[in-house]
Amino acid sequence: MSYVQRVLDKLIEKNDGQPEFIQAATEVLTSLEPVIEANPQYEKNAILERITEPERQLMFRVPWVDDNGNIQVNRGFRIQFNSAIGPYKGGLRLHPSVKLGTIKFLGFEQIFKNSLTGLAIGGGKGGSDFDPKGKSDREVMAFCQSFMTELFRHIGATTDVPAGDIGTGAREIGYMYGQYKRLTTKYEGVLTGKGLNYGGSLARTEATGYGLVYFLDEMLKDHNIDLAGKTVVISGSGNVAIYACQKAQTLGAKVVAMSDSNGYIYDEDGIKLDTVKRIKEVERGRIKEYVKDHPTAKYTEGKGIWTIPCDVALPCATQNELNEEDAKTLIANGVIAVAEGANMPSTIEATNAFIEKGVLFAPGKAANAGGVATSALEMSQNASMTAWTFEEVDGKLHNIMKNIYKNAAEAAEKYGHKDNLVVGANIAGFVKVADAMIAQGVC
Ligand code: GLU
Repeated sequence: MSYVQRVLDKLIEKNDGQPEFIQAATEVLTSLEPVIEANPQYEKNAILERITEPERQLMFRVPWVDDNGNIQVNRGFRIQFNSAIGPYKGGLRLHPSVKLGTIKFLGFEQIFKNSLTGLAIGGGKGGSDFDPKGKSDREVMAFCQSFMTELFRHIGATTDVPAGDIGTGAREIGYMYGQYKRLTTKYEGVLTGKGLNYGGSLARTEATGYGLVYFLDEMLKDHNIDLAGKTVVISGSGNVAIYACQKAQTLGAKVVAMSDSNGYIYDEDGIKLDTVKRIKEVERGRIKEYVKDHPTAKYTEGKGIWTIPCDVALPCATQNELNEEDAKTLIANGVIAVAEGANMPSTIEATNAFIEKGVLFAPGKAANAGGVATSALEMSQNASMTAWTFEEVDGKLHNIMKNIYKNAAEAAEKYGHKDNLVVGANIAGFVKVADAMIAQGVC
């Protein structure tokens, strides 16, 4: 039995009840086979056993008082997965579905994603089963302050730098930053995604979505395809989806559908992004309200966004939102490219279906790395007490995405899997971290 298979069998045995983590680890480790075979030092140094075991996992009680005076208790998490190439870095997910295994899969993905950016950031992730949806600002603040009252002792600008993710946006980061400052008396870049008047970076809000489309554009150009004029379907309507839509439209594509967890809208004439932004960013409402402003558009309750014919699909909602059946429907409808804005939105079966049929496929850990990369740029600005212009940050982001594409494509080719960016991204992300771990000894 191969080294990879032995490690995977042990992982499955040891991590009962963490299917998403097992899925992420299976995808990564399986695609590393060629590099593991060619480099016996990885097995000799037990790199796969070490890289799949978090350096530290924190789980804590988060009590807070709701608007009716009742005490609520949530569970907080922070997983400091790997610090071989830099301080732990990764977002905080606030969603009722969050469990230890969810944060573990996200933290594991983050190791390779952060490595791919070429910047000095290790892998970490955190969050809670708290649901900000429907809560008042005061309730969100009470939760965030309580969450930080435990988390503050474990993080720091050169130790661990959390950020946003699903459910954590500028409002939540602001409350958490205020509490960190109060508890430590330190004004430092301990969180990214901050407001612009207290240390945030220009273009951070747009970064994940813009970066996704920069990556997509690079991948298409490499195959002599122009994004202009293409029909695009984007799942989700959060931060990633909104700015992916904006950049795709700027580059001349026609975005015809977006969604939220209730249903999806289809606007044949092209999505009017200002309406989506108002509903989602200002009113914190539901996507179905779009049709009130645009009666020719159609709202459909439930899943099903992938039945809409398109040239390019950008899953930007959440993990495992696109399964094998969805993939087959997209393929039958003639999809050319799929680029993942969310973390692990396609199941392994869906990914394999795309790759087998020659659909250009950009995995999340490469294609959505623009967000965390720009977070690292925010850390640089905070450390040097400067603020760069939008153009400067956006220019660096664009270059980073081009490099990630180039490195992933080259690694895929070098190890005999030309055009398979899943293999390429995993290998390119892995080698840098693994070599740093070997250099730093058994730790
Ligand atoms: N949550 C984002 C991600 O999945 C951003 C993390 C960050 O900026 O640290 O990469």
